[in-house]
Amino acid sequence: MYDVIILGAGPAGISASLYTKRANKSTLIIYSGESELCKAEKIDNYYGFENGISGKELYNTGIKQAKNLDIEVINEEVIKVEIDNNFFRVITNNNEYNAKSLILAIGAKKNTLNIDGIKKLEGKGVSYCAICDGFFYKNKNVVVIGNGNYAISETNDLINVANKITILTNGEKAPEFRANNVDIVTKNIKEIRGESRVQEVCFQDNSIIKTDGVFIAQGTAGSVELAKKLGIIMKNDKIVVDENMQTNIKGIFACGDCTGGLLQVSKSVYEGAKAGVSIIEYLNFNNKK
Ligand SMILES: Cc1cc2nc3c(=O)[nH]c(=O)nc-3n(C[C@H](O)[C@H](O)[C@H](O)COP(=O)(O)OP(=O)(O)OC[C@H]3O[C@@H](n4cnc5c(N)ncnc54)[C@H](O)[C@@H]3O)c2cc1C
Repeated sequence: MYDVIILGAGPAGISASLYTKRANKSTLIIYSGESELCKAEKIDNYYGFENGISGKELYNTGIKQAKNLDIEVINEEVIKVEIDNNFFRVITNNNEYNAKSLILAIGAKKNTLNIDGIKKLEGKGVSYCAICDGFFYKNKNVVVIGNGNYAISETNDLINVANKITILTNGEKAPEFRANNVDIVTKNIKEIRGESRVQEVCFQDNSIIKTDGVFIAQGTAGSVELAKKLGIIMKNDKIVVDENMQTNIKGIFACGDCTGGLLQVSKSVYEGAKAGVSIIEYLNFNNKK
C-alpha cells in the first residue's frame, strides 16, 4: 500500500513526486512510454535553460531526477483505476497497485479516432467508457475499436452485459484474446453510420456489420477515459479541480495538462507542486501514515 500513486511522469507528475517523497510519503510513479513533451523539438520558454532544451531531454531528465531521489518509477500502461473502501487500486497491463491517494498527471491526450461518423454520433451510440455506458447495451450487439490492453479491458467490461462484441482492430494486428461472445475483425474501417443513432460500421472494402453501439478503445487510456470511469467531474474533457488540485473524489488530485488551461510546462510544474503539497496535508489530516 503506497501513500500516493502518481499516474504520469511528465512535468506535473514528477514535480508532485518531489514534494511527496521529501515529506516521507511512499510514492510510486507509473507512466507509459513517452509524453506530449517528447513531441516538442525545443522548449525555449521555460525558466533556467539559456539555450533551450529538447522536450525529450527534459522528460527523460525529469524521470532520472525522480529515480535519483529513490522514487519508484515504473513503465507500465494503466488500464483501470478502482475505488475500494476509500483506497485506490491501479491496474496496469502487468500488475495491480494500491494507494491511499492518487494524483492524475496523465496529460491531455483524448482517445479519439479520425473515422467518419464518430464525432457526429458521440453520445448517440459512440462511447468512450464501457463501465459507464455498457449497461445501455444489455443483450445488444456492440463493437470495440482497438487492439491493445485497453481494448481488451473494455471488452471484458462488456462481456457479461452485451449479447455479442466484435473487436475491430482497424487494420492493426488481432489481439490474442478469445471469449465465447467475442469476434475479432481486422479490416480497415471507412465509416460509422447512423441517422439519430449508430446503426452500422462500414469497412474500406464496403462490407458492413450492423451494431447498436461503438466503444472507442484505441491505444492507451487517457485522462478523459480514466477520470470518467472514476466519476470525476469534467468540463470540456478537462478534469475539474479546486484550488488545492483536489477533484470531486476524496483522495484523488489532478494536475498538468489534464486539468486544462495553459498547456505549458510551467503550469504543469506549478500544479504538480501544489498537488504534492496538498496530498501531504491530506494524508497527514486523515492520519493515514
Ligand atoms: C509539439 C508540442 C510542443 C510543445 N512545446 C512547448 C513549449 O515550447 N513550451 C511549453 O511550456 N510547453 C510546450 N508543450 C506543452 C507541454 O509538453 C505540456 O504542457 C506538458 O508536457 C504537460 O505536462 P503533463 O505532465 O501534464 O503531461 P505530459 O507531459 O503529457 O505527461 C503525461 C504522462 O502520463 C503518462 N500516461 C498517459 N497515459 C497513460 C496511461 N494510460 N498509463 C500510464 N501512463 C500514462 C505518459 O506516459 C506521461 O508520462 C508542447 C507540446 C507539444 C505537443
